[in-house]
Parts: sequence; C-alpha cells; structure tokens
Amino acid sequence: MGVTKQQEQAKTTALEALPLRDDLRGQSPYGAPQLEVQHLLNTNENTYPVPQVVVDAIGTAVHQAASSLNRYPDREFTELRQRLAAYLGHGLTEEHIWAANGSNEILQQILQAFGGPGRSVLSFPPTYSMYPLLASGTNTEYISGERAKDFTLSPEAAVQQVKQHQPNIIFLCSPNNPTGTALGLDVVEAVYEAGQETNAIVVVDEAYEEFSLEKTQSALTLLEGRERLIISRTMSKAFALAGARVGYLATSPQVTDALRLVRLPYHLSAITQAAANAALQHVEVLLETVDEIKAQRDRIVTELGKMGLNAAVSDSNFVFFGWFEDSHAVWQGLLDRGVLIRDVGISHHLRVTAGTQEETTAFLVALREVIGTETSLP
Ligand SMILES: *Cc1c(COP(=O)(O)O)cnc(C)c1O
Repeated sequence: MGVTKQQEQAKTTALEALPLRDDLRGQSPYGAPQLEVQHLLNTNENTYPVPQVVVDAIGTAVHQAASSLNRYPDREFTELRQRLAAYLGHGLTEEHIWAANGSNEILQQILQAFGGPGRSVLSFPPTYSMYPLLASGTNTEYISGERAKDFTLSPEAAVQQVKQHQPNIIFLCSPNNPTGTALGLDVVEAVYEAGQETNAIVVVDEAYEEFSLEKTQSALTLLEGRERLIISRTMSKAFALAGARVGYLATSPQVTDALRLVRLPYHLSAITQAAANAALQHVEVLLETVDEIKAQRDRIVTELGKMGLNAAVSDSNFVFFGWFEDSHAVWQGLLDRGVLIRDVGISHHLRVTAGTQEETTAFLVALREVIGTETSLP
C-alpha cells in the first residue's frame, strides 16, 4: 500500500533499462493485494488455522529433518508421492504422482516440458489468472478461448476451439476460478479426444476439488488409458496449507518422467517434504473444516440472491457474483469496512472466499451496508 504513481513510474523506467526479455516488457507480476485487513477473503485460502495436532506433527517432523539439512533431500520425494497416491486412491501409485512447490510450479513444469517457444497453451477465460503469466514466463503462446455469456463451456464449443487453435497444451480449470463452477467430465473427455490429432497435453486444474458438490466427479476417474491427461491438485486450499507450498499431480508414468527433465534437482526441500508427509498423516483432521466452509459458501449464494444479486453455483470455497454498475466501488466499500475480497478484473463482478461463519457474517453485513449506501445495484 501507499506506492504513488510516480514511484510506480520510476520503477518501470528502471526496469526498462535492463536487458529484460522483449516478451516480458510491460507485463505485470501476479499481485493479489496482501493487506492488513481484519477479514481476508480474497485468495481462497482455508481461513481456519492449521489444527493443533497437525501443527505439532509438522513441528516434530521439521525438527527431525533439521538435523540432516547438511545433506540434499530425497530428490524423488518417494514417501510424499506414496502418501499422495494413497490419498487420491483410484488405484494410483507413486509413479503416477509428481509434486512441486505449489501447483503453480507444477503448471510451470508442465509448460517447460511440453510448451515453450513455438508452442501454445489454450485456456478459457475468465479462468485462473496465473495461466497467462506462466505461459509468458516459459515463452509459450497463450491462446484465450471463449466461454458462453454465462461463463459455461460446452463440450462442443471446447472441441471446436481445440480443433481451430491446435494447441500443444490445454488448461481446464475445474472447479473454475473465478467463477466457481466445475466442468462436466464430458468436456474433459471431449477435449482430450479433440487433442488427439495434435498429441495435446490436457491439464485439469482441480485445486478446489475437495469443496465440490456431491454430484460433481473428479477427472481422476478418466486417467486410465489417457496418458496425456494430467490432474493437478494442491495442499493450499482445502488442506489449509497454502504457506507450505505443496502442489501435486496425477498422470501417466511417462508424463512424470518428462517432468524430471525440467525440474530443478532437489526442488522439494527436506523441510517441505517433512511438513507435507507429517500433514498427510492427518488428512481427516485437515479436511474437518471443509463441510463447514461449504455450508458458508452455500449461505453466501443464498443471501446474495436475497439481496437481488446473481451468484454462480459454486463447487469451490468461493463465490463469484454480480451484477454491479461499479464493482470496484463495492470492493472499496467492503475494504473500508475491513473486508478484503477479490476484484478479479471482470467488469460488474467480484469474488469472495467462504470463510468461517463469523467472517461470512462480517462480509454479508458489510455488503448490505455498501449496496444500501452506495446504490450499486442494477
Ligand atoms: C489457488 C489455486 C491454485 C493453487 O496454487 P498453489 O501454487 O498450489 O498454491 C492452483 N490453481 C488454481 C485455479 C487456484 O485457484
């Protein structure tokens, strides 16, 4: 906070003097605001603190790992891959699993291995804001596909766009960030089929899968027989471990072998592995808050409806909603009342993370005030 326009300008000029890659000039880094606000509901973290048994288990494990920090860690993080395979089920074993420092690094490694100069990745905005940034960082062309007006994506529309653009990689985000809705498996199947022609890698980013509605199915069920399919997951959301930086994926053993070509040696530190392995011994405790978060999410959808707003059905721990004449003014009004939510840059819409009951109440009360006083309803 408090960076003036002039300071911004001076920074930009200083940057321009550097021999920066041409394709990175003028780009902005990822920058969800990290502000000191009472209610932080802007980056879809699990807002509950880490349960005490997990804190203790991580503490003990990290303490033990500390005595061997003179040595490089297990480059293959085998125990972690075994534990993640056991968590996912579906007959997966460690050779199907890969992990990295957050699923952002997972996605980056996929682009490094299968994208790069002269290659392209197709995704369907509005979707996760990191996709174009990761594409540009790896010099992969980013192709913006299109969704229907209500932000849905039908199998037919997706297939037509895959055939038209012939991408090397396709990113499907399900449940989609920022809209919250999951894709039907028919879309994933159809996109995979359509990508056959160009041997395309299909990534389903399931960062929020644990929050899905009952009827929604994970694309893990499609892995068998589809060696170019990758399901990306993270410990950052439902597991309440965003600070630990652990993302992972499930795919064919061939794809994990390909990723070994681009990973940095020992990319997962001994501390990270110890923390993640300890946490994974308490999966049930870690996921205890998921049902309560889902209840608050559904409450937000209902309450926004009562306020005359439109809120998308959500399979995640956040809600995408509108319509506001001036959504940024609403965002600012909430911030002025101690509630930070996300302005995802889609006009007339905002996104809020479902937190605890108290946080959700604080958000709803503040929003009622803001739309009452600033008359931003359609
Ligand atoms: C939050 C999020 C991630 C997780 O990123 P990490 O690097 O694992 O913290 C991945 N994909 C989407 C769509 C997300 O919203």
